[in-house]
Amino acid sequence: MGFPWGRQFGCCLAAEEADNGAAMTNKRALPWRDATRAIHAGEDKHGIGAPVATPVARTSTFTFASTAEMKRWAAGKSKAYIYTRYGNPTLAVAEARLAALEGGEAALVTASGMAAISSTLLAVLKTGDELLATRQLYGGSYRLMRDVFPRLGIGVRHVETDLAGIEGLVTPRTRALYVESPTNPTLRLVDLHRALEFARRYKLVSLIDNTFATPILQKPLALGFDMVLHSATKYLGGHSDLIAGAVISSRAWIAQVRQMVIDLGGSMDPGAAFLLIRGIKTLEVRVRRQCENAMAVARFLARHPKVARVHYPGLPSHPDHKLARRQMRGFGSMLAFDLRGGLPAARRFCDRVRVFLLAASLGGVESLVVLPIYTSHYRMSRRELAAAGVGAGTVRVSVGLEDSRDLIADLKQALA
Ligand code: PLP
Repeated sequence: MGFPWGRQFGCCLAAEEADNGAAMTNKRALPWRDATRAIHAGEDKHGIGAPVATPVARTSTFTFASTAEMKRWAAGKSKAYIYTRYGNPTLAVAEARLAALEGGEAALVTASGMAAISSTLLAVLKTGDELLATRQLYGGSYRLMRDVFPRLGIGVRHVETDLAGIEGLVTPRTRALYVESPTNPTLRLVDLHRALEFARRYKLVSLIDNTFATPILQKPLALGFDMVLHSATKYLGGHSDLIAGAVISSRAWIAQVRQMVIDLGGSMDPGAAFLLIRGIKTLEVRVRRQCENAMAVARFLARHPKVARVHYPGLPSHPDHKLARRQMRGFGSMLAFDLRGGLPAARRFCDRVRVFLLAASLGGVESLVVLPIYTSHYRMSRRELAAAGVGAGTVRVSVGLEDSRDLIADLKQALA
C-alpha cells in the first residue's frame, strides 16, 4: 500500500516517476505553457477525493512491507522512499514541477541555494580540477570558490561577464564553466550562446545560476546548458518565507548531485517543499508584474538628479540591453543604482524608505533595498568590490508586487 493521499489518488509522484521527468508530460493537456506548468506539473489530481493542495509528507522515514523489499532497496533494485534526506513525495512534486518549468529531465530540491550550488559543484569537480567562473557572482558563491574550494584542491579562475580572454584561462585541468546571468548585484549579462560555444569547444560542464532570470524569462537548458541552479528562496518561493535551492539537469547528473546531497546532508525539509510548491504556482504572473514595476522604478530613478547611474538591463543605457533583448523574455525585477552622494547618501536613502523594506534577499512580493557592501558582498576587499562593479554607494533593489505608484512615491520621499 502506498500513501492514502499519494499513489492511491495519483496526486504525488513516486520517486522513480519524478526522476524520469514523467511530470512534464501530462497526457491530458500537452503542451503546457509556463503558467499552467507552474500550477499543475508534477501532480495529477483528477479523480475522486484528491486533495487539490499538495499534501505534506511530514515524515523523516518510510515503512517497508518486508525485509525482502528492504533488501531490494539496498541492492539498488527499488526506488522506494526510505528516508527524507534521500527523497520524499512532497519534495518529488517540487522537483517535477521545476524540471517541467526549466525543461530538464529531472530536478533536485535542497535546503538552500548554497546547498544546491555547493553539492552540484562538488558532484562535478574533484581535487585537481579547475573551475572557470564569472567574476561577478552572488557573494556566497564567490566566497565558496575563494575560501572553500582551494582547501579541497579545486582551483578557480574568474572571467569577466563579457568573457574577454576566456581562451587564455583554460588549462588541461579545467572541468566546468559556471556563470550567473543576470549577475548580482549589477545586473550584467553573460552572452549564453558564446559561453556555451566555448564550453562545448573545451568539453566543459556548463552550469548557470538562473536565480535572477527565473525559468519564466530564460531557459538555459534549452540553449544547451548542462545544469541550472537556483536559490529557490528568491523568485521561485516568492514570499520571503523559506530558504531553498534547486538544481535541474539530466537524469544522470541529478542522480550524482542527489548522492552528494545525501552524503553532505543539504536536503530540503518537506514543509519548505510545500511552501515552494505553493509559491511556484504564481511564479509566472508575479514575474511578469514585477518586471513591469521594475521598469517603472528604473525609469523614475534614471531621471532623478541625485542618481548617478541605474543598472537595469531594461534601460537602453545599460551595457547589456541589446543582449538582454536577445536572450531574455523580460528584463527581470532586480536593479541597482549609484547615488551621486556615495555611501552617506545611500545610507540616508535606505534609512528613509517606508514601503521598500531594508532587508537582504530578493525576489519576494515585498520590495526590498540593501547596500551590497553590508550584505551579499561583505568580507570583500576594495579590489574585489571594484571588480564586481559594487561601489560603496551602490543600492540594490528587489522590486516586488506593490502598486508602482506607491513605490515611486516612496523613492521620491526617501531621495528628497
Ligand atoms: N544565487 C544567487 C543569485 C543569490 O542571490 C543567492 C542568495 O542571495 C544564492 C544563490 C544563495 O541562495 P540561498 O541564500 O538560498 O542559499
